[in-house]
Amino acid sequence: MFGRAPKKSDNTRYYEILGVSKNASQEDLKKAYRKAAIKNHPDKGGDPEKFKELAQAYEVLSDPEKREIYDQYGEDALKEGMGSGGGGHNPFDIFESFFGGSTFGGGGSSRGRRQRRGEDVIHPLKVSLEDLYNATSKKLSLSRNVICQKCKGKGSKSGASMKCSGCQGSGMKVTIRQLGPGMIQQMQHPCNECKGTGEMINDKDRCPQCKGEKVVQEKKVLEVIVEKGMQNGQKISFPGEADEAPDTVSGDIVFVLQQKDHPKYKRKGDDIFYEHTLSLTEALCGFQFVLTHLDNRQLLIKSNPGEVVKPDQFKAINDEGMPMYQRPFMRGKLYIHFTVDFPDSLAPDQCKALEAVLPPKPTSQMTDMELDECEETTLHDVNMEEEMRRKQAQAQEAYEEDDDDVHGGAQRVQCAQQ
Ligand SMILES: [Zn+2]
Ligand SMILES: [Zn+2]
Repeated sequence: MFGRAPKKSDNTRYYEILGVSKNASQEDLKKAYRKAAIKNHPDKGGDPEKFKELAQAYEVLSDPEKREIYDQYGEDALKEGMGSGGGGHNPFDIFESFFGGSTFGGGGSSRGRRQRRGEDVIHPLKVSLEDLYNATSKKLSLSRNVICQKCKGKGSKSGASMKCSGCQGSGMKVTIRQLGPGMIQQMQHPCNECKGTGEMINDKDRCPQCKGEKVVQEKKVLEVIVEKGMQNGQKISFPGEADEAPDTVSGDIVFVLQQKDHPKYKRKGDDIFYEHTLSLTEALCGFQFVLTHLDNRQLLIKSNPGEVVKPDQFKAINDEGMPMYQRPFMRGKLYIHFTVDFPDSLAPDQCKALEAVLPPKPTSQMTDMELDECEETTLHDVNMEEEMRRKQAQAQEAYEEDDDDVHGGAQRVQCAQQ
């Protein structure tokens, strides 16, 4: 039998990613995407890869044309250029266009998304905690394509172009592949001769400035303003600053902030955490130390008279955390987590001196005779983490042996039956 045999490629994965059935309605898709995208948003601690996959799956399935191609030919067909601009959209844009604007306080833009537009360009931008505390600006030099001014983006001196002979001006080419006896596959690709534009420029008529490419490279310096209190993963957009191309609305250049680890401070939202170790004497009799803050101010941290700090205790200083984004006069807290460094051993006379000032030991209610009746024991030092790991490994081994026994047993039963 002749005919177009759909390639049995993977055309269910996108449905699985969104957790919907193959005949899901647009309404079902929307619901599924909304739920999963909120759950997996990187700003909320979700997995960026998963978030990207969700956006990709939703982008394809929510577009009836792309969905049809996907259902019939699978993912590869979309990558090979069927439908418009297969894949590669910024997942954050898809998320924002869905929810309308910046949902988690990102610097998003609210343009219509219906028109044909170029790709957004995403750049990670490393910033220190100091940058996010004090605000800063960074100048970055980027090169991008801009419409050639000499030919106004026509690519030719005369402004004329000819139909591409490779695709008769359609911009698309159809290739037919024989998959097996009586099975052929028909695929559409953007025309490689005209790069999908459908037109060619006569060699002699080519614009000398852009060599017929219609665009030229230009260096541009962008100044990125990092505001106080911005978060890791927050985006700073420059609308329309991505590559220019004829008949296309330029995409955005988007910087995504990546907060570098700080040697002393850890940030959680608007709060800052600091680890400090006290000697036992400081923990019992009071302490005082100086902390250099992220803006180089020196903070004097001291205990209240007579106060004892216990191991693993937290203390907080109000309004010394991170400034809040767009409300820089409001600040989070600075938390200090105390570790107490106990001495490993004490000499007998030290013990005596301490016993003289510390609350008395609980006295034994038992007589010497009764104590003589008890069994002697020895206390060993243990590394509890290691101990638990070893026990787990042993349990695993025992389980595996058990498993073998079951198989062996089953075999014996079979033998007995024969
Ligand atoms: Zn062509
Ligand atoms: Zn030109």
